[in-house]
Amino acid sequence: MRILIAGAGIAGLAAALALARKGHSVQVIEQAAALEEVGAGLQLGPNAMRVLDALGIGEKVAAAGQSPAAITLRDGRSAREILKVPLGEAAKRRWGAAYVTLHRADLVAILAEALERAQPGALHLGVTLTDIDNRADGVAIATASGETLAAELLIGADGIRSVVREVLFGPDTPRFTGHVAWRALVRIDPADPAAPPPGVGAWLGARRHAVTYRIRPDLVNLVAVTEQSDWRDEGWNLPGDADRLRADFAGWKVLAPLLARVETPLRWALFDRKPMRAWHDNRALLIGDACHPMLPFLAQGAAMGIEDGYALAELLPLEGEIEPALARFFALRQPRTARIQAMARSNGVDFHEGNPLATLAMRLPLGRAASARPDAVMARWDWLYGGGPIGIRSGILA
Ligand SMILES: Cc1cc2nc3c(=O)[nH]c(=O)nc-3n(C[C@H](O)[C@H](O)[C@H](O)COP(=O)(O)OP(=O)(O)OC[C@H]3O[C@@H](n4cnc5c(N)ncnc54)[C@H](O)[C@@H]3O)c2cc1C
Repeated sequence: MRILIAGAGIAGLAAALALARKGHSVQVIEQAAALEEVGAGLQLGPNAMRVLDALGIGEKVAAAGQSPAAITLRDGRSAREILKVPLGEAAKRRWGAAYVTLHRADLVAILAEALERAQPGALHLGVTLTDIDNRADGVAIATASGETLAAELLIGADGIRSVVREVLFGPDTPRFTGHVAWRALVRIDPADPAAPPPGVGAWLGARRHAVTYRIRPDLVNLVAVTEQSDWRDEGWNLPGDADRLRADFAGWKVLAPLLARVETPLRWALFDRKPMRAWHDNRALLIGDACHPMLPFLAQGAAMGIEDGYALAELLPLEGEIEPALARFFALRQPRTARIQAMARSNGVDFHEGNPLATLAMRLPLGRAASARPDAVMARWDWLYGGGPIGIRSGILA
């Protein structure tokens, strides 16, 4: 099938690779002139890593990143441990793949290289989709340079501000959550005792939290979230004031040396969107953030885009009727992504002690269970890290 993909983000590239490996002819158009990924880290749960394994690039991705031994939730001020979810070898044993943290640029480069091997010349940079002529028997798009490109299927993988979504379903109505996030990559000396502990750290406090993890031995990814209403820009790359960041987290002693090294943090406002009721119309389909953008509090946005790409390639026939496959794709993928969207939203509340009951439930029984029976803690995440798209075996091996 001739397939056009708008957007060479993680979802678009993963879909292109999975579809090309199945024998489809894919063309990916990307508005950016180069794949210069924003400097940021990414966590890939075992659910995403099992898909990347099946696409033949799991080892490369794991080698480019770090494999944290645990996710540890701590009180931000006292650094007291609240809960630990074992990862490392325990994650591989239980969920069949590693948990990996890495630089987004490394993942994008590995996906693009693999696509080039699977179908040389499939990626077209500097091409912007501007309009769509979507019919029952085919689809054509207009580009900013005045070209028309035709295909049997258009996949809109064009991210949170998707043009494809807007043409198909009209403008969306995001809700400002009141959360503003800071992010920074911070160079550290791994031997420095003041460096933040290795592994994924979630540091929780009143109306704020921070997440730290290493993406290279000497590079820490920091995301820090506060509640405030004076910043409503959703752009990912707007510079913020490092002193304001330090003031927001004053008294968080373990993080202070890391915060002291931040030069220009980036800042963005977090908006929430409800699950959509449809992802396709005629010969155009949405995947990734274009149809299920999520708050970053479960670190699963990119993972869901990767799962989407694989699931679609499993379902789409090489020729013949397309619509039943698109309907099945929605029926299989929407409930899982909607559950993750909802959980990411509720984590945003629980992490900030906004809901005392939820906080208590999270801190007391779980904390005790964690030290006594790590398996019980891991079992809570089977549906997420052990689940995945059609075609991928379940990762629950324990
Ligand atoms: C700070 C931060 C931390 C995160 N951490 C994690 C994490 O740890 N783990 C995780 O799984 N997820 C994480 N996420 C979420 C994850 O980054 C996103 O869910 C994921 O990048 C979405 O991928 P995508 O391909 O759907 O969209 P995007 O990455 O937004 O890609 C869309 C692409 O489409 C292109 N495009 C847009 N419009 C057009 C057009 N008209 N024509 C042509 N091209 C177009 C864009 O240039 C872009 O390259 C995080 C997000 C943020 C902001």
